[in-house]
Amino acid sequence: MQGASREHTAALKRLGATVHQVRLPEDLVGIDALVIPGGESTTISMLLESSGTFEPIAQLLHEGLPVLGTCAGMILLAGDVLDGRPDQKSFAQIDIAVRRNGFGRQVASFESDIRIKGFEEPFPGVFIRAPVVQTVDRSVEVLASVELDGGKQSPALCRQGNVMVSSFHPELTDDLRIHQMFLTNIN
Ligand code: GLN
Repeated sequence: MQGASREHTAALKRLGATVHQVRLPEDLVGIDALVIPGGESTTISMLLESSGTFEPIAQLLHEGLPVLGTCAGMILLAGDVLDGRPDQKSFAQIDIAVRRNGFGRQVASFESDIRIKGFEEPFPGVFIRAPVVQTVDRSVEVLASVELDGGKQSPALCRQGNVMVSSFHPELTDDLRIHQMFLTNIN
């Protein structure tokens, strides 16, 4: 619909997946998994509604379709959205609360190497006007965290059941490990 879908497509294709873009409800037929990219969650929310894809996607997610949401995609999957626009919708598929643009203006965009559970080498985390995860339910697995101003750690990569979300942009790096992990968990 909007956002960094081309980069996700390229990453997944490099790993051998067959990928197409979802713009209309019929594009959802036969898919095994979904990626909701970074971009602008308010715009994506509006386009999901106007294209008639919001309800069918909500249904598929409810049935357990594996989904990866990055940045704006994380916001669109979060159970609670703070500082959102009142009319913005969420699929509410993962029990986390996120604050839109939560890193503040001065540190709106930055890169930080992050440690991810199960990865030996750090991952290059690209954060662009990213959401800050404020709370996570106990049933959510936190796979990586990022340091906030003042030294507090905040979850940056989380998984709950079929849902995986990151506040950073793995698709904007050459590092395919997160896409690989997502594809591995589909089967
Ligand atoms: N700030 C954006 C939003 O609220 C997310 C930014 C991003 O996806 N890079 O949707």
